Amino acid sequence: MTSRRAFITHAARTGLLFVGCGLANAGPQPPSRPARRVVTVRGRRIKTVDVHAHCAVAEAIELRRAAAGSQAANQPLLLDGQPLADRLKTMDAQGIEMAVLSINPNWYDVDRDLAARIIDVQNERMAAFCASHADRFAAFASVALQFPDLAAEQLERAMKRMSFRGAAIGGSVAGLELADAKFHPFWSKAEELGAVVFIHPQGSGTADFTNRLKGNGMLGNVIGNPLETTIALSHLIFEGTLDRFPGLKILAAHGGGYLPSYMNRFDHGCQTFPAQCKAGVPKERPTEYVKRMYYDSLVFTSEALRHLVAEVGVDRIVVGTDYPYPWVSAPVDHVLDAAGLSDADREAILQGNAAKLLGLRIA
Ligand SMILES: [Zn+2]
Repeated sequence: MTSRRAFITHAARTGLLFVGCGLANAGPQPPSRPARRVVTVRGRRIKTVDVHAHCAVAEAIELRRAAAGSQAANQPLLLDGQPLADRLKTMDAQGIEMAVLSINPNWYDVDRDLAARIIDVQNERMAAFCASHADRFAAFASVALQFPDLAAEQLERAMKRMSFRGAAIGGSVAGLELADAKFHPFWSKAEELGAVVFIHPQGSGTADFTNRLKGNGMLGNVIGNPLETTIALSHLIFEGTLDRFPGLKILAAHGGGYLPSYMNRFDHGCQTFPAQCKAGVPKERPTEYVKRMYYDSLVFTSEALRHLVAEVGVDRIVVGTDYPYPWVSAPVDHVLDAAGLSDADREAILQGNAAKLLGLRIA
């Protein structure tokens, strides 16, 4: 194999069976030895880290459901319900060594007491799960961001006493933008702690916006989700939040939505129409802030990934699978196949960037 095209192997859990690209010749695996894809770059074993892996905690869902008397607004994926073997089997087949778990917020509309109870049970369950499986799992904490002071306390406890890597939040909070001054206490604490803040959209647009995305094609997701991320990150830039808290470590799902691929328009908006922009906000060119954030690799094709690398830099990109949603079946392939990447670049995207960003010790 050339240096640009990494060699891929698949092996039994023991690492004894190696075949070339594709599974066609691998043959049936003994039930006691589930197939494990071993990813290598130029002969060097890579332990891929997935930063976008959903989970849910049954007790928290029940708390939410009991209070609302209705919806179970979370993923059908339970840390304490789904057999661990199923999850590990999928991770093994996809070549994912470590998953960094998170829970999409569905509690931004509940009162303070209930929010605190939901967050406590989620963080305690996730922390215990990760402690029991530290070789395969880490996690982002949950926080009750509608109460920023409480969210800051929860984040501090999660980081200092529970070994979380940061927090997962939505792209907006009960109709408020993340750049709203109300959230400054949370951003301040995240900056102080060096916490990674994983922003995942929830399609929580306005009614007008949501109405336009109805109809065939699941546009509320395929357009709405990346658009929500784009809007959230854009406000953080243009409202000066990233100037006020320059040490923030923002990690955006789905490759940052549309932001990195269309960011250059940002540099021209205020130049072209200065009367519509506050002088000196943001302090630097908008694209400079885009290059300081981190993005998962969930952009599907090698060409899209190549472009993302070209726009934000290879050191800003980490792997995301969106487990358990089967958007992609082989989440490392487009990294291995992307044009213009060196072996070191591939290793960085698959493992090194995430390990460094999240402080993961990968054996
Ligand atoms: Zn997701």
